[in-house]
Amino acid sequence: MTEEEVNHEQADSKYKYSFDFIQKKLEGKKDSFGMLMKEIVRTGICTECGTCAAVCPVLEWDHLIGQPKLVGKCTGCGICYNQCPRTITDPIQLIGEFNRGYVANTNIPEVIGGQDGGTITSLLCYLFDEHLIDAAIVTMKDPDNPWHPIAQIITTKDDAIKASGSIYAHSQTVDALMDAIRADYRSIAFVGTPCNIDAVHKMYSSPSGMLKYFMRAHILTIGLFCMDSFSPETLYPMFEKDGIDMAKVTKMDINKGKFHLYYENQEEPIKSYNIKSLHKYKSSSCSFCTDLTAENADISVGSVGSGANKNTVFARTAIGAEILEDAAQKGYLTVEPYNAINLNAVLFLAKLKKVSQYTIQKRKVFIVKDVVDKEESRIETKEISEQAKSLFGTRRAISVSKQLNEREKKLKLTITNTAGFTIDNIKVRIATIDEVFENKPWVTTIKEMFPYEDIEVGYPVDSLEGSVLVEVISDAYGKIFSRNIKFEPKKDT
Ligand SMILES: Cc1cc2nc3c(=O)[nH]c(=O)nc-3n(C[C@H](O)[C@H](O)[C@H](O)COP(=O)(O)OP(=O)(O)OC[C@H]3O[C@@H](n4cnc5c(N)ncnc54)[C@H](O)[C@@H]3O)c2cc1C
Ligand code: SF4
Ligand code: SF4
Ligand code: SF4
Repeated sequence: MTEEEVNHEQADSKYKYSFDFIQKKLEGKKDSFGMLMKEIVRTGICTECGTCAAVCPVLEWDHLIGQPKLVGKCTGCGICYNQCPRTITDPIQLIGEFNRGYVANTNIPEVIGGQDGGTITSLLCYLFDEHLIDAAIVTMKDPDNPWHPIAQIITTKDDAIKASGSIYAHSQTVDALMDAIRADYRSIAFVGTPCNIDAVHKMYSSPSGMLKYFMRAHILTIGLFCMDSFSPETLYPMFEKDGIDMAKVTKMDINKGKFHLYYENQEEPIKSYNIKSLHKYKSSSCSFCTDLTAENADISVGSVGSGANKNTVFARTAIGAEILEDAAQKGYLTVEPYNAINLNAVLFLAKLKKVSQYTIQKRKVFIVKDVVDKEESRIETKEISEQAKSLFGTRRAISVSKQLNEREKKLKLTITNTAGFTIDNIKVRIATIDEVFENKPWVTTIKEMFPYEDIEVGYPVDSLEGSVLVEVISDAYGKIFSRNIKFEPKKDT
């Protein structure tokens, strides 16, 4: 062997040693080449830097299609995934910084058997008993509208116990917080989802934040872990259609990819849904959300990573840690140390949330179609259905904008879903209006229209001035949009 060959072999074995070392370090994680392809390459965010292929002996760069290609057996070690500049692998990037972590559960008999470990309710009880707070902002069920959230100011631990449990819908907690500040409460615990916590954080930290120079109130923020919330307007009617009596539901819970509903005193759920099947009922904002663990809270509390009837807790600030430890010392909570958390489960879910926005695509459907001449028909009633009126009130479910292409004699209509949730099985109907008659009606059916999705229609017109009737009819809510849209050539200025 030449000296050069010996050097090369030694370098090669050193490389193999490092490869094995990192492989061991990554053992048990779910990062792999498959994840790299799914999260980075197939979503179109790969920068084509070639790093993945450069570090792995069984990967090659495919110059033809511009992506990594397997040329041997992948061991699933995850080394490629952990070098890629586009993956998120740093725990701090995934769950934020924290001072201490715990697994916790309540010791208060009335709180046991609540949402998870009852940690939040127990902390509120401790804070009231110790006179550390004058008020807390919580979310309760609307007594007149089952399972619709209402944010409330509470001042007693009895009310904290009444407010326990999760409602998987947006709650206007900051509104209640501002009311509490106006009512002169000085020391307030604020319970909210990560987006609620972000609002308070911004009000404290942004240059024009309302609370930045506000010295009269101190706010302790308690954040809930949150993967997504839903639109009650569409989710609950679907539950009811499935025979569920919402007034009888006593608990909702999301656990291991399933959404469970419980009636009183029943151990087993009355109904469980695969969470993926509920995607279209998800609030549109949640698809753009990247914070699972309430990274800006003083204390963050969730269920993932801790097992049944317990909570994973991150105390992020010094005051958060002090409050948690004192509550445990005074017997409100039992806490286990940081290593009791299944951190990999938390990191895995946090990563799912961070990368989910890579796959969001605002679909735009372009429809340019010749209108088939049909016999004239008289305009039907333009009334919006009663069901749509009661659901949307004065809010519009659909909005339409127009643009006339004079050269092509086409009216471009952009129809947008502004309902805030996915509307499925809708019929879009367009017709020219000549006096009281409709001409050239054109209809298309759309299976699913996502929130804020646009549908663009190129509707041919005979004249450059006139009006078209645009109607949108949904299977579930009846006529949700009906308007005459006038058009005319652009005037020279
Ligand atoms: C929309 C939503 C999504 C969630 N997703 C996840 C998840 O993916 N993974 C996970 O581990 N945990 C998630 N959680 C948190 C989990 O459901 C529990 O709230 C958390 O584990 C605390 O449990 P606990 O037993 O201490 O709660 P409790 O002691 O019962 O206290 C719950 C507190 O949450 C407040 N609350 C209830 N609903 C809302 C709401 N909509 N907005 C603001 N505050 C509310 C109540 O006022 C109460 O004070 C979610 C919670 C919500 C509200
Ligand atoms: S063997 Fe190669 S391709 Fe497979 S996960 Fe490890 S580094 Fe990636
Ligand atoms: S390392 Fe990541 S960004 Fe670079 S080529 Fe591979 S997948 Fe693409
Ligand atoms: S997923 Fe994000 S936006 Fe949606 S409720 Fe949770 S924290 Fe708020």
